[in-house]
Amino acid sequence: MNDGVVFDIIKAMKITRRNLLKITGFSVLAASVLPRVAFAARNSLRSLRTGVQPGNKTRLVIETSMRPSYSLSYPAGQLVVNIANTAANTSVVAKLASDGLVKSISQTQNGDGLQIIANLKKSIAQIPKSGVMILEPNGDNDYRLVLDFIAGTTGTTANDTYTTTSATATTAITAARKYVIVVDAGHGGKDPGCIGKGGTREKDIVLSVAKKLKNKLDANGFKTYLTRDGDKYLKLADRAAIAEKRKADLFISLHANANPSRQMKGFSIYTLSEKASDEEAKKLAEAENAADKIGVEGFTEFEENIRIALSSLQQHAVAEMSEEYATGCAKSFKRASIEQQPGPDVRHAPFAVLRSTVPGALLELGHLSNVAEEKLLKTSSHQDKLVAAIVKSVKNYNFEV
Ligand SMILES: [Zn+2]
Repeated sequence: MNDGVVFDIIKAMKITRRNLLKITGFSVLAASVLPRVAFAARNSLRSLRTGVQPGNKTRLVIETSMRPSYSLSYPAGQLVVNIANTAANTSVVAKLASDGLVKSISQTQNGDGLQIIANLKKSIAQIPKSGVMILEPNGDNDYRLVLDFIAGTTGTTANDTYTTTSATATTAITAARKYVIVVDAGHGGKDPGCIGKGGTREKDIVLSVAKKLKNKLDANGFKTYLTRDGDKYLKLADRAAIAEKRKADLFISLHANANPSRQMKGFSIYTLSEKASDEEAKKLAEAENAADKIGVEGFTEFEENIRIALSSLQQHAVAEMSEEYATGCAKSFKRASIEQQPGPDVRHAPFAVLRSTVPGALLELGHLSNVAEEKLLKTSSHQDKLVAAIVKSVKNYNFEV
């Protein structure tokens, strides 16, 4: 049995990437990296809101990470929007205008698709083509499906596009469990990390940011653990093991950078790859790592070939989810006008601390080797700004795919 066959089976069983991570409790994965083809990109819900437009029109805005492919239907008392190949997102809370026609909104995962159900105060007229817009991303917004509607009655053919669903076929999504985030303050104890010209130590800056980040994430409904909350030395593998032990949904490792050029400044974001994306990434990983190669573990109940295939697929899932988080995180930093190091939004390097089954990223928050940035990184206001951007990136990350 090869990877392709195992993948087909997994796909047929509709096992999501997230559930794939849970197949075994603890498994540190092999260094072999398959081409990243296994999972097709999936759209995800970003926000839901209603407003009121002139002419007594109610406007429903559904924001998604990719261009939505949708259909509408009008069961009694409801407007139902089906969006294909899209994941529900329980962290999205609908913002409803009190004077609009929508009483409440719920979201349901209906197979591969997302179903948005708007419960109405009054019946509405079928939405004409002119009442539907898809807006391109701009500023703080991703793609938006905009629907304008007025009170009235729908025609008899209104339900033609309505596909499936009975009361039992769908289950309302409820946030049963808090998402677990492990925040890793890099270095510590005998390992100061890099040191700025003014004597600022990386281990102190990242610990300060990590503590603030934990408070803010917890205040936003996440359950956050720190790998260290004091000036303590921890091995890289131990940090990854904490994320495994806590069954974390996301792992964020915080660092600050140093560069031989004192001019170099800005943040950079990394995900795990056994092949560095560039020479600088390779050097950085060597500096941050005491890398040791780790073999396939876990999946012991399976035969070796299946074990390796499952492990590879799991690694794929982790890599893709990490990439999605990191991409969103870079966006969040840029939107907060935090200076970015020139180069790609997401870089890749073999960071030992990221070798686990928990999706995550390593954030280099800025350069201590740059005099101005060293000063900035020490200020509480800049640390707060970094924390706010990271919190936003976590809130925007879709944990359910
Ligand atoms: Zn570091």
